Amino acid sequence: MNAISSGLERFAGRKLGVATIHAKEQVIGPLLKQALGLSGYSAIADMDTDRFGAFSGEVQRTLDPLAACEAKARHGAEVSGLDLVVASEGSFGPYPPAPFISCDEEFLLLFDALDGRIFHHRHVSLETVFDGEACTDWTQANAFAQRMKFPSHHLVVRPLEKWKQGDALFKGLQDKDAFRNAVEGLLEQRGSCWVETDLRAMANPTRMRVIADTAERFAREISTLCPTCGDVWFRITDAITGLPCDLCGWPTHSVREYRRTCRTCGHYADSVRPDGKATEEPTHCNNCNP
Ligand SMILES: [Zn+2]
Ligand SMILES: [Zn+2]
Repeated sequence: MNAISSGLERFAGRKLGVATIHAKEQVIGPLLKQALGLSGYSAIADMDTDRFGAFSGEVQRTLDPLAACEAKARHGAEVSGLDLVVASEGSFGPYPPAPFISCDEEFLLLFDALDGRIFHHRHVSLETVFDGEACTDWTQANAFAQRMKFPSHHLVVRPLEKWKQGDALFKGLQDKDAFRNAVEGLLEQRGSCWVETDLRAMANPTRMRVIADTAERFAREISTLCPTCGDVWFRITDAITGLPCDLCGWPTHSVREYRRTCRTCGHYADSVRPDGKATEEPTHCNNCNP
């Protein structure tokens, strides 16, 4: 194997495979192509990424999101013969610091088969269209659909929240008649049905925007070069708290600086917040506002 070039030359002129079947290459591909100087990108055909876990419950996820991303990327490299492959994985749930709010946690992982190197990025967004509801009549199902921005955001209908083998499953519903038929069919059979948002990227434009945002951040992180050795991915590894209170100067729990670390040479450096915020409001200060 040839020696891998350092810095961004590693990626120059190479073609990227996007291991996805849900049209995510349209938002991930252009951003990485531009930031890394790639020659192009394409979705990898014949990928069955749903076998690594599906939102609508037919396949349970068994791997953590980064491991799932890596499995997808390696599988994508195998089936396509491409040596540079990106994979994506997302999950929805309560936002840990404020569990009454939903969040979308997205991961991107880039696998370089030339030397086995892996780059990854995690981004959490509070912007979601995500929910599910047990419905006992059409009016309720229709009201839920309107709240979930149907039909721009597609829906899933099945008998119960937990899907089991043999149950009916309607995914990607984007047509009002088809949605109504699915709901009324189940209501007639069983008296109730479960309706939820379809969270696959092409079925949920809000999630697609979050993936685009994640790709933009990932591209920026990979193309940030270490000032000491010049290698790529001089990335944010820590958020250091202690932003001083605007009134008393006491260190608050808000982020003061971000630490970037180089995986290649171990160099690290702390830098101020990109938003330029240098002090915190006294309402967030434990000294002023205990
Ligand atoms: Zn370095
Ligand atoms: Zn204070």
